Amino acid sequence: MSFFSIRQISKTYDSQTALQPFSLELKRGELIAIVGESGSGKSTLLRIMAGLEMQSSGAVLLNGQPIENPAQKLIPGYDEIKLIHQDFQLNPNSTVTENISRPLIQYDKGYSKDRLVSLLFEFGLEGLKDRFPRQLSGGQQQKVAIAAALAVEPEVLLLDEPFSSLDPIQKHKLITELKELFLEMGTTVVFVTHDLDDALRLTDNLIILQKGKVVQKGGSQELCEHPKTRYVARLFSTINLIPDRFNSFLRPSDVRLRSKGELLGHVIDQRFLVHYNSLQVRLKNGGQIWEVDDPLRKYKVGDRVYLCFDEEKVLVLKG
Ligand code: ADP
Ligand code: MG
Repeated sequence: MSFFSIRQISKTYDSQTALQPFSLELKRGELIAIVGESGSGKSTLLRIMAGLEMQSSGAVLLNGQPIENPAQKLIPGYDEIKLIHQDFQLNPNSTVTENISRPLIQYDKGYSKDRLVSLLFEFGLEGLKDRFPRQLSGGQQQKVAIAAALAVEPEVLLLDEPFSSLDPIQKHKLITELKELFLEMGTTVVFVTHDLDDALRLTDNLIILQKGKVVQKGGSQELCEHPKTRYVARLFSTINLIPDRFNSFLRPSDVRLRSKGELLGHVIDQRFLVHYNSLQVRLKNGGQIWEVDDPLRKYKVGDRVYLCFDEEKVLVLKG
């Protein structure tokens, strides 16, 4: 028997399908990321998993017990399943200590105290324990919110794009720290995001959702090298359509720049990025514009360049 089991969950809002039958079996301590563009049904799915939204069909089971939806349960939601989203959900007039302790109010005093001390330690928040949310950075606030959610030792943590309002540096630091914490504490986590890069920092275990439907599952390398559709391929990078070839594409990093060849173009834009220059090249044949990496930073706007590639790098993709 699986620990957290999502069986054929679907959701229709006023005859509009938000989620097609979705199934997932999670082991205790597993981390998984569900990636999809806005509107692909991620929040709907998490709310159903948390017992906060009524599904149109299917069932969610935790340790073999069905999770009741709001129509079946007087107070919707479960202590065992915690959902965190972008808004920090902290009380602005309470300190870090008070925010983390609040969910523990009905628990035994000794247990609450031990739990608080251990969370402050594990999350590295001891030095900030007397501060108010306004005295913390966004990343620290979200860390406190997650510590508070974990106070009552939920069995499953559901993260709904909780890092969206953080700047990239804070975000990457927080995700890396949380990953270690989750693994150490054995927390089972479902993380949904539109940002593949964020997902990859937490886990290599991915499900790609498009318009309420799972389009592909697997590890990052598998999905990057063998995407089944253009949508999946584009989550990793831009893709360039090869002229006169049906559904065949190349990633900017798989194009080689040469002074001889068949596919001629002109550089129309050049950007200095951290690891390479990114070029926009207008193809002579057809006028299409390709995005190409120039790792040697050799080419300038106006240069003529031939674009070459290995056949094995060509991605053949459905729409
Ligand atoms: P995501 O979190 O991936 O952005 P959502 O689960 O929020 O996606 O939404 C999926 C689809 O369901 C969208 O088309 C959205 O407009 C629709 N939807 C979400 N919530 C409701 C609601 N309460 N009533 C009607 N339609 C909704
Ligand atoms: Mg959402």
